Amino acid sequence: MQGLTEPEHSSSQYSLETNDSREICREALTQWGEQAQITMVFEEMAELQKELCKYLRGKDVTEAIAEEIADVELMLEQMKLLFNIEEQVEDVKRCKLMRLSQRLATTEAETMR
Ligand SMILES: [Mg+2]
Repeated sequence: MQGLTEPEHSSSQYSLETNDSREICREALTQWGEQAQITMVFEEMAELQKELCKYLRGKDVTEAIAEEIADVELMLEQMKLLFNIEEQVEDVKRCKLMRLSQRLATTEAETMR
């Protein structure tokens, strides 16, 4: 079935709706509890850290990095739900991005002097 095979990451894999993922994350919190899920944040962050260290030592770990970023993001989703701070995080992110953008513009202007 040449040409009909699905790409490695079909769009359906990417189309988990925000509400679906929120629901799944909420269920994980309910099922395993906040202490276990907070511990998982530490664990997943450590795993990402380990893969990034391997990368800095010259290893080809791009796939592992993608996997660990996904794990960390899922845990962070759960933390936002646990502390009920989804909107707050978005607001702070917007502010920090704005500040970063200004800092970049300032640095760029300085180097052009
Ligand atoms: Mg992991």
